[in-house]
Amino acid sequence: MSFSSFSLAPAIHSALETLGFESPTDIQSQTIPLALTGKDIIATAQTGTGKTAAFMLPILNNLLRYDTQLGQVRALVLAPTRELAQQVAENTQQYAANTELKVVCLYGGANIGPQEKRLKAGVDIVIATPGRLLDHLIKGTLSLNQLQHLVFDEADRMLDMGFIGEIKRIMRHVPDSRQTMLFSATLDESVEKLASRWLSDPKRVGI
Ligand code: AMP
Repeated sequence: MSFSSFSLAPAIHSALETLGFESPTDIQSQTIPLALTGKDIIATAQTGTGKTAAFMLPILNNLLRYDTQLGQVRALVLAPTRELAQQVAENTQQYAANTELKVVCLYGGANIGPQEKRLKAGVDIVIATPGRLLDHLIKGTLSLNQLQHLVFDEADRMLDMGFIGEIKRIMRHVPDSRQTMLFSATLDESVEKLASRWLSDPKRVGI
């Protein structure tokens, strides 16, 4: 299989070419066609399997179709740690390098001022740890009213780290009409509970 079998925007294909990605990984082949249809997805995938591109390429493709809405937060990825959030944001910048989409990474332990400034300038995609995202929602420096895509990345780790309270509070700010994808290395009862509460008729993929 090759990436050209997915109908992705030329700006995405050219970014993949620059990165030297020749063929999709297993999780990408399973997730991308399904995600492009807008379905909710539960994916079992470990780090290093190419899971970031699996959820991000379909999101980018959709955001590019409505570029009149540039500068409004239309995609949010929640990640358990600063390191993971930064890694997802870096990969997203690479995949979106040939587009005008703006990506911002929000995490705790860093000065909130510069993050606010970047949000004010307009962003399309937010990658965040739950606590700091909630700080911005409470301060009113970020609105999720226009959100179309939500990803729980490493959902099992987020729950292990005790973020369920923050997640519940964040979900009060998220519109009902959206695509939600959940990625997790393991699917235990608590992850299934999270999925049943916030995903709608999800399709399952995994390796
Ligand atoms: P991830 O599991 O998303 O953290 O990805 C692990 C690494 O694999 C990242 O450094 C990606 O740049 C790389 N990668 C993702 N998809 C592909 C692909 N289809 N071909 C080659 N490398 C890839």
